[in-house]
Amino acid sequence: MSEAILKGITLSEGIAIGKAMFFNDVEENYPKRNLGKNEIEGEISRFKKAVASSRNDIKKLQKNFTKQGILEIVEILNSHLEMLYDPWLMQQVEEKIKKLKINSEAVFKTVLEEFKKKCSDDSFFSERYKDVLDVSKRILKHLTSRQKLNANIKNGIVLTHEIIPSDIAEADEQSILAFVTQKGGRSSHSAIIARAKNIPFIANVDIDKLDIAKLKKVIVDGINGKIIFNPSKSTIKKYEQLKKELKVDVSGNEKINTALQTQDKVNIKIYGNIGSIQDVKVLFKNNAHGVGLFRSEYLFLAKKKLPSEEEQFKIYKELAQTLKNYPLIIRIFDFGADKNYIFSCEDKYSYLSDESNPALGCRGARFLLKHQEILDTQIRALLRASAFGNVHFLVPFVSDVSEFLRIKQRMLQIKEDLIAQKIKVAPDIILGCMIEVPSAAIMADAFAEVADFLSIGTNDLNQYLLAADCANANVSHFFNGLHPSLLRVLEFIVKAAEKKQKRVILCGEIAADKRFTKLLLGLGIKEFSVTARYIPLISHVIKNLSFIDAMDFFTKVKKISDNQQLQNYVINDS
Ligand code: PEP
Ligand code: MG
Repeated sequence: MSEAILKGITLSEGIAIGKAMFFNDVEENYPKRNLGKNEIEGEISRFKKAVASSRNDIKKLQKNFTKQGILEIVEILNSHLEMLYDPWLMQQVEEKIKKLKINSEAVFKTVLEEFKKKCSDDSFFSERYKDVLDVSKRILKHLTSRQKLNANIKNGIVLTHEIIPSDIAEADEQSILAFVTQKGGRSSHSAIIARAKNIPFIANVDIDKLDIAKLKKVIVDGINGKIIFNPSKSTIKKYEQLKKELKVDVSGNEKINTALQTQDKVNIKIYGNIGSIQDVKVLFKNNAHGVGLFRSEYLFLAKKKLPSEEEQFKIYKELAQTLKNYPLIIRIFDFGADKNYIFSCEDKYSYLSDESNPALGCRGARFLLKHQEILDTQIRALLRASAFGNVHFLVPFVSDVSEFLRIKQRMLQIKEDLIAQKIKVAPDIILGCMIEVPSAAIMADAFAEVADFLSIGTNDLNQYLLAADCANANVSHFFNGLHPSLLRVLEFIVKAAEKKQKRVILCGEIAADKRFTKLLLGLGIKEFSVTARYIPLISHVIKNLSFIDAMDFFTKVKKISDNQQLQNYVINDS
C-alpha cells in the first residue's frame, strides 16, 4: 500500500511517527453466570474488592500527576473517584446480585445499560455517561482480564473507535505515541488529558476504512489534523524535521527568554501559565519569556487548607528566585464558582456552596474584598517575595474599577506597613488587572488608566459574553472557536490599552490554539501566555507569520458576523 492521507480533527497537537496498533475496546462480552445461594455473599465481596482496587488505581494516578503538577488530570480523576464512592452504585449492584442471582460483571452491565438509556436523550448526561463508562471499564478490568493498552507495545499509534480518559491517563508515553479515533471532541476529558500529557490525538477518522494488515508506519500530524499511512521516505524526513523543531528541549539548560520575532521582525513575548513550582522546569526547557499567569489558588488543591503567610512566602520566593529576573506574574487567589475547594477550608466560607448561581456570585475580587483576612495574608506574602525577583501581581475577576482600586490601595498600605517594620519589598508594585467579565472589557480604558497592565482571560470572558456555561455540553459549540463578538471585544480592549500605552497579555486557552494565532496577532496581541507545553508550537507558528499579513487577515475576518462562517474561514486558512 502506498502513501495515503486521511483528514481528522486535532484534539491534542503534536507530531508522532510510529506503528499502527488497533485497540478493540468497544464490544466486550462479559460472561453471564448463574450463582448458587451460597455464592452470593462471595460475589458481592468480589465486586466490592474490584471497586476498592479501582479507587486505589485512581489515587495512585492522582499522586503521580500531582507530583508532575498536571492538576487538570487530578481534577478529572477526582470526579471518577467520587463516582466510586457513590453509595447508589454499590447498592444497585448488591441488590441485583441478590435478586437476579447472577455474577457481578453481568449485573454491572445491566445497571450501566439502564443508566445509558436514561442519558440518551440528554446531552449533558450523555457527556457524564462517558465518565461513568470510564469508571465501569476500570471496575470491569479488575473483575475480568480486559485488554491492557500498554502491553507489549513500543512506538505505537493507537487506532480505535473511542478512547476513555483513563486509558489516556495510564498510557505510557514510551509505548504509545499518539491516539487516532473515530469519535471524540476537543472538550472531552480524553482530549484534555491527552493535551495535558502532550500526546497527539486526532479524532473523526474513519477507522473502519483501514486495513490493518496493510498498515506499517503511520504519521500523526496533529498540527494540520491529518494521518499519513505508509509514508514515503521524503515524507518521513519532512516530519522528522518538524518534530525536531517542535520538540521540548530536555537538555535541562536554563535558556529562558530566547527572542521571538515574526517574519517581519516584530517582537513577540510568550509566557507560561503555571499552577505549581514544578511547571517552571518545563518553562525553562521551552524557551518561555517568564510566567504570564501563576494561578495561586492551585496551592489549595491538594491541601484543602488555607496556607499561612509563611507557607505562601516560601513558595512565592522560591518561584521568584527560580525565574531570576524574568517576569513572574502571580494572580491573587481566584476563588468561587468552579474553584470551589475553599468551601471546605473553614465553615465561614461554606456559604458559597449555597449560592444558586456561583458563576455569577461571590468569586474572584468580590470574594477577596469580602474576606480581607485572606487578601491581607496573601498580599503580605507576595510583597515580601517581591524583593527576590521580578514579581508582578494580577487581580482576578474584576467587574468594577472600584474593586481593583480597593485591592491596589490595600497593597500600597501593606507595603508601607512592611517598610515600617523594616521588611524588604520591591521598590515598585506592578499590578495588573484581569479582563474576563464583559463590564471590565467595556470599561477597558478605565482599567488601563489605573492598572499597570491588562491580562485578558478569554475562558471566562467568552462564557460571560456569550452567556454560555463552559461546563455545559449543550452549549459547547460556543467554545470550539473564536466567536465574532469575542473578536470585536478583544480588538476593543487592545486598542483601549494601546491608547494608555499599557501592555496587554492574553492568557486564556485560546492563546494556545494555533488555529487562531494569526488572528490574535492581527488584532494586536503581542504577548501570549499559554500552558508550558504549547510554547514550542505557538512560537513555531509565530515565527512563520508576518505581522502585516496577520493585520490584513484580521481586517478581512472581522467583517464576518456569522460564527460558523468565521470559524470555517479561519480554520481553512490555518
Ligand atoms: C480565563 O478565564 O481565561 C483565565 C485565564 O482564568 P481561569 O482559566 O483561571 O479562570
Ligand atoms: Mg478566569
